[in-house]
Amino acid sequence: MDATTAPWDDPSSRPTAALDRTDDLTADVVVVGFGAAGACAAIEAAEAGATVLVLDRFGGGGATAISGGVVYAGGGTAQQRAAGVTDTPQAMYDYLRQEAGDAVSADTLRRFCDQSAAMVDWLAGLGVPFDARLCPYKTSYPTNRHYLYYSGSETAFAEVSPPAPRGHRVYARGTSGRVFAARLTAAARDRGVELREQTRAERLITDPDTGRVTGVECRTLRAAPAWARLTHRVLHRWSVKPGVYLPGLGRVLHRRAAGIERRYGRPLRIGAARGVVLSAGGFVFNRPMMREHAPDYRGGLRLGTPGDDGSGILLGVAAGGSTAFLDRVSIWRFLTPPSAMLGGLLVDRDGRHVCDETRYGAAIGEAVLRSPGGRAWLLLDAPTVKQCRSQVREQTLWFQRWQAYWLLTAGRVTGPTLPAVARRAGVDPAGLVATVGAWGGSPPYSMIDVSIRKRAAAPAPMLTLGGLRVDEETGQVLGVPGLYAAGRTAVGICSRSYVSGLSLADCVFSGRRAGLSVASEDRGGLHAHRG
Ligand SMILES: Cc1cc2nc3c(=O)[nH]c(=O)nc-3n(C[C@H](O)[C@H](O)[C@H](O)COP(=O)(O)OP(=O)(O)OC[C@H]3O[C@@H](n4cnc5c(N)ncnc54)[C@H](O)[C@@H]3O)c2cc1C
Repeated sequence: MDATTAPWDDPSSRPTAALDRTDDLTADVVVVGFGAAGACAAIEAAEAGATVLVLDRFGGGGATAISGGVVYAGGGTAQQRAAGVTDTPQAMYDYLRQEAGDAVSADTLRRFCDQSAAMVDWLAGLGVPFDARLCPYKTSYPTNRHYLYYSGSETAFAEVSPPAPRGHRVYARGTSGRVFAARLTAAARDRGVELREQTRAERLITDPDTGRVTGVECRTLRAAPAWARLTHRVLHRWSVKPGVYLPGLGRVLHRRAAGIERRYGRPLRIGAARGVVLSAGGFVFNRPMMREHAPDYRGGLRLGTPGDDGSGILLGVAAGGSTAFLDRVSIWRFLTPPSAMLGGLLVDRDGRHVCDETRYGAAIGEAVLRSPGGRAWLLLDAPTVKQCRSQVREQTLWFQRWQAYWLLTAGRVTGPTLPAVARRAGVDPAGLVATVGAWGGSPPYSMIDVSIRKRAAAPAPMLTLGGLRVDEETGQVLGVPGLYAAGRTAVGICSRSYVSGLSLADCVFSGRRAGLSVASEDRGGLHAHRG
């Protein structure tokens, strides 16, 4: 594992000493960040009897609320059984061991797989809806007719583990993350969890004698004028959703929201009698951290919200925590839908085969990124292009449709022979002919540019996978008593390699673990009352 210290070392972010001021508020457990991981931590801690206060820089939801709402689960979930799918925890483990590698220990991965079916039941019990309709074709994200699908590279590992569809998309139209986040939020509130919105954690408070984390210093807009709070909310909302696809607009709007925080934010101290959970997302929006840890990934589309600025990770580092896998970024290049694209051949600019086209989009994205110049093309023959066109309408949702049409029109060059199409694309003709060999495709041939680096209408989305190193039994940040981390703020199941649904599944797994552990800590002598 690579353990590094984060580059950000602003002295003002260092933990401050406890007990030198009266806390404005106290709770047993303070959770920083209210996405999937924070919500699951809060729910478990509250169910264990702790008073829980969650703070979120914005309104909560985070990347979870704009996600596809796909949860990777298996081992015989209720939905798999209803769809007639055979799966076992062992088969899930054998597959994930290939994908997840050494991100977590074998014991932790086994626990994750053994508990997976029960985890879906737990979510369903909180009101998160799932559905058993199985998608009959390979896709990056199923349409509103299907909710169970092969969301990883399972079929490519068939000799290691019997493939099974494990992508459980939350049952909702469009991108399902909205409903996922809303149901978790409601479940947390039902259990008495208190949410402080528009409140940003800026420093951890530690006991100078023991080093134990005993609270959080924040900046809150709670006392700001109503217009400032509303403007902050609106600016953030617009910086997030259109901002994913229009990053320039997102940046401008976020800068203004941050300006409101600086101008109207007031300090607030929150004491945490049992401990603090950091669940503030990843760092894909922190440029210096990206430059330092993942310089190869310039040009990808940042997948997340402006809250993914690494602040959770950096708070943990400032308190004495360490990090791992910060260099691991999942960058996606999906070839499907339409599923007929899998009839193509993925080649680099030398005409060499890049990788198995049926692999998950992150595996393809990584292989393309590592190709010469980060460039790759999908070679298709005429009947395959025709079949692709006929599938677009049926197999895509809106956000996939424009990309599929673009790739099949403006993103495509054609030629009557292989050397001719190669020359047009800028690929070495001799290399391509040598790779293709006796391929029996029919002309005219097409090549679709699926490069990562090119600034095109189909940019490659990316998210960060590494974070704070934690004790895998408890979720405690290693070496920092009273501090826990979960979701993309922590090292987790998906920290080496991501397949669709594995981040949310890990958020639930690690969030629940942190919530249960922190709730069972001693109160450390602080009163657990609301100030
Ligand atoms: C478009 C898109 C689609 C995706 N689809 C999927 C999918 O289908 N399946 C899947 O597994 N993964 C998916 N992902 C990835 C997944 O959504 C995220 O990795 C996951 O939601 C992270 O959850 P989290 O709880 O760690 O953080 P988040 O959900 O991002 O929550 C973190 C919260 O912390 C708050 N915060 C940040 N800093 C502070 C601070 N200093 N103080 C207080 N609050 C703070 C933020 O405002 C935010 O609300 C997708 C991501 C995107 C963007």
